[in-house]
Amino acid sequence: MRSLLLATNNPGKVREFTRLLAGLPFQVVTPEDRGINVTVDETGSTYEQNARLKAEAFARAGVCLALADDSGLEVDALGGAPGLHSARYGGEGLDDRGRVILLLHNLKGLPPDRRKARFRAVVVVAGCGTEARSFEGVFEGAIADAPRGNDGFGYDPVFLLPDGRTAAELPPGEKDRLSHRGIAVRKAAAYLETLA
Ligand code: IMP
Repeated sequence: MRSLLLATNNPGKVREFTRLLAGLPFQVVTPEDRGINVTVDETGSTYEQNARLKAEAFARAGVCLALADDSGLEVDALGGAPGLHSARYGGEGLDDRGRVILLLHNLKGLPPDRRKARFRAVVVVAGCGTEARSFEGVFEGAIADAPRGNDGFGYDPVFLLPDGRTAAELPPGEKDRLSHRGIAVRKAAAYLETLA
């Protein structure tokens, strides 16, 4: 069975991709499994460019077939921020919890109808000698007043669904069904089948 390398060191993304790709005919491997140590400067100006930089760099690192995503949270009241910079919102010193607190602070006092937001992901599949292909998914929601829930990662505890739950309160299978990453991976699945 052909190996497919997840081009990420983010444990939250690794968990989600491993579930989302489980039905496909690949042995899904992580950089850690293969002892691959690649750091990619995300110098692109779009999610697609950054995802492509990551997928191509990891594909070159030995496995010849890699899947990356670049993703972010876009908050309307912040003009689409943190967007491409979601992983580094507030600077390198903050962790996920610190970024959530900063986001809540920056939206303090805004009523529910001004807290609309979405997660966006672009998944890129890259191999050696094949053109990289990209697939996009969007997950619409809003930003809660306070964090809730213990599942997921990143901004999930403040990402509010229309039914009042946060993404961190969803069972994993439900997040996969609704999420930007789930939508993008399901779009990529038919293409991946042709590479198996
Ligand atoms: P990057 O794609 O590695 O640049 O990181 C994207 C960042 O966006 C993550 O580190 C999270 O902070 C945030 N993010 C992307 N997808 C999700 C998600 O599904 N849940 C929560 N946060 C997310």
